[in-house]
Amino acid sequence: MKTMVRRNQRFLFLLVSVLALSAISSAQKLAITIDDLPLNGSLPTGVTRAQTTKDVLAVLKKRHVPPVYGFVNAKKLEGSQDGAEALKLWAAKEPVGNHTYSHMDLEQNSAEAFEREIEENEPVLELLDPNNHWRWLRYPYLREGDTVEKRRAVRAYLGAHGYRIAQVTLDWEDYLWNTAYARCVEKKNQNSIAWLRTSYLSTASEFLDLGREQSKLIFGREINYVLLMHLGAFSSTIVPDALDLLHKKGFQLVTLEEAESDPAYETDPDVGLHDAGTLLDQMMQVKQINYPPHAEKPYKEIEAVCR
Ligand SMILES: [Zn+2]
Repeated sequence: MKTMVRRNQRFLFLLVSVLALSAISSAQKLAITIDDLPLNGSLPTGVTRAQTTKDVLAVLKKRHVPPVYGFVNAKKLEGSQDGAEALKLWAAKEPVGNHTYSHMDLEQNSAEAFEREIEENEPVLELLDPNNHWRWLRYPYLREGDTVEKRRAVRAYLGAHGYRIAQVTLDWEDYLWNTAYARCVEKKNQNSIAWLRTSYLSTASEFLDLGREQSKLIFGREINYVLLMHLGAFSSTIVPDALDLLHKKGFQLVTLEEAESDPAYETDPDVGLHDAGTLLDQMMQVKQINYPPHAEKPYKEIEAVCR
């Protein structure tokens, strides 16, 4: 009888292990990336960039999130000791990449000016990461060129200078909530803060699902994803919930390198596009695929809250 029980237990253990393993292997891989370092948007009075960064780093550590690339605009360090301190804290724990010196819009500038901005950002990246893992470019506003000539020129420059493109394939425009949250904290408006939380999480959920549908429509499968987030006033309080949401939706967090090892990231739309969004959004345009029905982001409500 005892051996029977033990055998059953062993079988049960094996079954659970196999199920757990298959759950891991079928989980959709996703890399979190963070833009606009040292900080996106405004902060409430008395809150520093350094403290905000520390808080977010603590969340990432506590939740065992694999290395998260933070994309830097070094211009924001001019005259900001707090910004410099925040960036040092970040780079001591997480990798950094290039987001151009002043967050330049490639649609408003020439390829040459854009390339100079990439270069101008490099001394700070070299200081922050002497191991040279910073040769990843995240295009500001995800704008890769409104003409195909510009697009090709910058891509050729990046290739010649050993850069990889840090593409984005999932995005719910999380930055919209940062300054709104700072305003609501100033006004101590708890109802509005509660609304910011629920609207953030429902928008995140909607656009995670939409991105996955886009991937199926474009590639006929789910790819490894790269998620765009921003470091701002709302981050330290909302990122734990965002991580819970990603977990609930079955994502497995991986590094940027691992996510972009998916051949989908070799896709180049190779056309001039205006403010086209993520790589998936760009491909929807190029392939003329219609979007599945989805809720829009609450732009107007966020803009108006706590004024
Ligand atoms: Zn940015």
